[in-house]
Amino acid sequence: MNELIEKINKLKKEKNAVILAHCYQNEEIDLVADYVGDSLYLSQMAAKTNADIILFAGVYFMAQTAKILSPDKKVLLPRLESGCRMADMISLNQLREFKSKYPDIPTVCYINSTAEVKSECDMCCTSSNAVKVVKSMNAEKILFLPDTYLGKWVEAQLGNLEVITYPGFCPTHLQIRPEDIENARAEYPNAPVLAHPECHQAVTKLADYVGSTTGIMKYAIESDKKQFIIATEKGVVDRLKRDYPEKEFILIKESIVCPNMKWHTLTDIYNALDKEEHEINVDKEIASKALNCIDRMLEVSK
Ligand code: SF4
Repeated sequence: MNELIEKINKLKKEKNAVILAHCYQNEEIDLVADYVGDSLYLSQMAAKTNADIILFAGVYFMAQTAKILSPDKKVLLPRLESGCRMADMISLNQLREFKSKYPDIPTVCYINSTAEVKSECDMCCTSSNAVKVVKSMNAEKILFLPDTYLGKWVEAQLGNLEVITYPGFCPTHLQIRPEDIENARAEYPNAPVLAHPECHQAVTKLADYVGSTTGIMKYAIESDKKQFIIATEKGVVDRLKRDYPEKEFILIKESIVCPNMKWHTLTDIYNALDKEEHEINVDKEIASKALNCIDRMLEVSK
């Protein structure tokens, strides 16, 4: 493995490439990544980088977002199969149909959506900034897609506006059931439950803290507690265990693994970088409209 890491690092230097990795990736990817984080952080890094090549160890929509933010760079996705099942739940036609039912209501799309969908939405958000983004719209009603659970969680946080949601969801987070939380609490009574807002409301209502991947990690790192029950993707728990061995992190269920986030291996990264293959391109007109939607979010998140 060390030899492969050296070869990747050498290629990165030769080609002036940067590797962005989502924290749901296999842990070994961190060994070659320049930046590891959630969607918001990685979008900000993609917008800032001076590299000529961005290799995205994440899912398809993330690489598309990087290309939209840095159109002059070459963006590579090591395995093209790594889509997001939630993002695939809404096509451009489905978006148009949804919007046509509620004319004149502003539309917010979760970053977990395709470039085409973003191109016809008013503003984008991540789970880190969804509440802030929706609030910034000063609307009485908004349409939110594709994740119905994140949308309903935002509505509950703000309390003074109606969020009309599209019926999309994350199949990974939706595996977490309220009884999983109750059972974990019974076993670890002193451990706070930290949950992602992509979970069902019946789950988030039972949690002590609800936040994005970064929010969950920050909460656990800064807390005086020693034990935590984590209700999100396994990659977050793997990194917390590795970096904070003095604390105990309990994954709510071993099956909370996003299969699409686990496609990339170090070998795939080496091959993609070496051959400069699996390049992601976005139609210029769509990219320019989607950029407005993403830029508005980045502006609010400063
Ligand atoms: S965890 Fe869910 S929302 Fe995230 S990439 Fe996987 S399917 Fe998509």
